[in-house]
Amino acid sequence: MSSVLGEEQKPSRIKIISRNDVGVSRCHSGGGALPARPPADPEPRAVPIPIPPCAGAAPGPGKGGQRGRRDGPLPAPPQLCSGTRGAGKKVLIVYAHQEPKSFNGSLLKIAVEELTKQGCSVTVSDLYTMQFEPRATRNDIVGHLHNSEAFNYGVETWEAYKRGGLSKDLVEEQKKVQEADLLIFQFPLFWFNMPAILKGWMDRVLVQGFAYDLSKVYDGGLLQDKLSLFSFTTGGGPEMYSKEGIGGDIRYVLWPMQHGIMHFCGVKVLEPHICYAPENVSEEKRKEMLAAWTQRLKTLWKEEPIDCSPEWYFK
Ligand code: FAD
Ligand code: ZN
Repeated sequence: MSSVLGEEQKPSRIKIISRNDVGVSRCHSGGGALPARPPADPEPRAVPIPIPPCAGAAPGPGKGGQRGRRDGPLPAPPQLCSGTRGAGKKVLIVYAHQEPKSFNGSLLKIAVEELTKQGCSVTVSDLYTMQFEPRATRNDIVGHLHNSEAFNYGVETWEAYKRGGLSKDLVEEQKKVQEADLLIFQFPLFWFNMPAILKGWMDRVLVQGFAYDLSKVYDGGLLQDKLSLFSFTTGGGPEMYSKEGIGGDIRYVLWPMQHGIMHFCGVKVLEPHICYAPENVSEEKRKEMLAAWTQRLKTLWKEEPIDCSPEWYFK
C-alpha cells in the first residue's frame, strides 16, 4: 500500500502521555482581528479557558523533569544550565517570518540566545532567508520515478527516501530533524494556520519512511523521543480566540498542527506559546511578552508534554 491511510493499516491507539490539564501558554491580551487587524479592544473580556498567565507560562516541574533527562554526565559546565537540564540538547527552530526586526524575529532571537546560554546546540531553519521551496513537486525526487505514468507525490517521495533519492534541501532538513531533541516552530498565524512556507516545510520534509510509515503513526510514529513546540503570534486578541469568541478556541487551530502533524509523526507536544496581537498592544506589553518567553525557556526542559488527544482540543 502506498499510503499510511490505507484501510488495512491500524494505527496504534493514542496513549495518554500525561495529564497535567495544562492550558495554552499565552502572552498577554490585546485586540485585533483576523486578518484585517482591527484596533485593539481596550478591555478584553476574560478568557474562559485555563490559561496560565504570561510570566508563569511554563507548567510546574513535577514529573516532567524525566523528559529532559539523559543518562551520563552532562557535557556542559553546570553554570550554563543550572536547573534547566538543557545542556547538550539539540534544538531546531523552524522560523517563518520575512523580517528580522519583527516581533517573531525578536522571539526567535530570544530563543536562540536563551537556549544557547543553557548549553543547547541550536540550529535555525530561517525559511524565507533560505528561500525554502514550499511546493511539493516532482523536483523533490532525484533520478527515476517509481511510476512516471501517473505522478503520486506521497509514493514517489517514500520510494525516493528509501533509495536515498530525495533532493538535497530535503535531506538537509531531515538531518536537522533527526538530530534534534526539540523542534520549535516560530511564525505568525496566517488564516488560522501556519504560513504557506512553513506548511510547505511540513509537506516536503516529513515524508513517509522518514517521519511515519505504514501503521507507524501517532505514538508509533518514527520521530519518537522528540519534543515540539508551536510558538506563534496572532493579529486577534485572546478574547477572539476563546470558545465563545468569534474565532473559537485557539486549540481548534492547534489540532491540525500539533495532533495532525507532530503527534502523527510520533513527536511529543509541549504547550504552545502564543503571543496575542503584538501589533496592537503597548511597547511595555510587548516587552512583557518577550520577557515571558525568556522565562518559559528557562524551565522548558522540566515541562511535560500535553495530553495530545482530541479531548485536549475539543472538550
Ligand atoms: P510585527 O508587526 O513585526 O510586530 C509587532 C510590533 O512589535 C511592531 O511594532 C514591532 O516593531 C514590535 N517589536 C518587534 N520587536 C520588538 C522588541 N524586541 N521589543 C518591542 N517591540 C518589538 N491574525 C490572526 O489572528 N488570525 C489569522 O488568521 C491571521 N491571518 C493572517 C493572514 C495573513 C496573510 C497575514 C499577513 C496576517 C494574518 N494575521 C492573522 C495577522 C498576523 O498573525 C499578525 O500580523 C502577526 O502575528 C504579527 O506578528 P509580527 O511578528 O508580524 O508582528
Ligand atoms: Zn495528538
